[in-house]
Amino acid sequence: MLPKVSVHRFCCAPFTNVENYRRLVGSELIDEIERLARDLHGVRICHVNSTGFGGGVAELLSRLVPLARALGIRADWRLIQGTPEFFGVTKSFHNALQGAPHTLSELEKAIYLHINGESAKQLDADYDVFVVHDPQPAAFRAALGPNRAKWIWRCHIDTSAPNHEVAAFLLPYLSIYDAVVFTMKEFALPGLDAKLTSFIAPAIDPLSTKNMSLPEDLCTAVIANAGIDTNRPLVAQVSRFDPWKDPMGVIEAYRLAKKEVPGLQLALVGAIAGDDPEGWQLLALVEKETADDDDAYVFTNLAGVGSMEVNAFQRASDIVIQKSIREGFGLVVSESFWKSKPVIAGPAGGIPMQFPIGFERYLTPSIEGCATSIVELLRHPDRAEAFGLAAHDHVRRHFLLPRLLRDDLLLIKTLLAGGGSVVHAA
Ligand code: UDP
Repeated sequence: MLPKVSVHRFCCAPFTNVENYRRLVGSELIDEIERLARDLHGVRICHVNSTGFGGGVAELLSRLVPLARALGIRADWRLIQGTPEFFGVTKSFHNALQGAPHTLSELEKAIYLHINGESAKQLDADYDVFVVHDPQPAAFRAALGPNRAKWIWRCHIDTSAPNHEVAAFLLPYLSIYDAVVFTMKEFALPGLDAKLTSFIAPAIDPLSTKNMSLPEDLCTAVIANAGIDTNRPLVAQVSRFDPWKDPMGVIEAYRLAKKEVPGLQLALVGAIAGDDPEGWQLLALVEKETADDDDAYVFTNLAGVGSMEVNAFQRASDIVIQKSIREGFGLVVSESFWKSKPVIAGPAGGIPMQFPIGFERYLTPSIEGCATSIVELLRHPDRAEAFGLAAHDHVRRHFLLPRLLRDDLLLIKTLLAGGGSVVHAA
């Protein structure tokens, strides 16, 4: 028998204030958001996703929903609560939609639809707009049946070259949405009606605990407490333990670079997300691989590495790595750039758009390229500094939370007015 599930209510208090962003993003954008919020006064919006912690979607919603509420918009955030079997299925869907091979079984379909159906039954349907994030709850719209709300499927992953079986299974559930949002044009799922498709890039919150400015001595103390020698160089990758983030490749690149820079240290800071059963296996592999290396550290949210510590690691590292092979957006890149850190990254998904013009050579898919760039930037701190400063400004202009909220509200306003729309962000 398939297990019972529930949808958990997850509302956020309006503890933030839009005025605090004015000095960062300028008055024009804040005024525009305030006008949109007035137009949408009283509108009820419900975001639905599958995890409240770990990963970019939870990070985004934990900031976006309170900011919307601070503007008087009645936004809520609800979680689909699945079972280990369900999250096993949805992780395979996630991988398959990003192009991994997969043979879809009848049992997987049944588990997926059962959890979506049971969850939908428990959802308060009295909203004007539902924003359903990623594949996990994508069948909600069908499961809820006839409903007066406008429905948006917000896809955060690259579905441009999906596994055909999984895509064919999901398409009927997706094509009944009123709008579908991808991070970039290139990610659009083949076969979805393009009239309904919009493109909006994610963003980071510069005022969150993860991104707010911190005193340098505090950051140094945090990493020293974690065992890092603060007199020697440090490179770090902050990521879920996910094969697409290539932590093994990071370890190899660090080892190659260490031949040239013997004092080099590596920190792999990784969260285990609530909807990511694969993470445990990869964490075990990473821990095994680094067990004999006193200069390679592995930290997780399970050992108390939270937003503040991530902030400190990103600030106190000499270089941040994001060696992704496939990526939706990669919030960690903007987070590090916001801290004026140089980032060496795989040229995957939404990562290149976050890079400032003139620094694209640090987008490299290979282990050797990553190692060479580590050595180069450590030997040329002037280049690292110029890169970090240009990157900070690029993120300030394109990838901060108010811009994302503006794009979302514009889409919602257009939908409620009866239109389809295409929003081009950044
Ligand atoms: N993150 C974290 N602790 C960790 C690892 C990651 O808080 O140990 C956060 C990270 O700072 C970022 C998010 O999780 O805000 C990851 O988002 P991203 O878009 O980079 O990747 P995703 O996990 O969504 O694929």
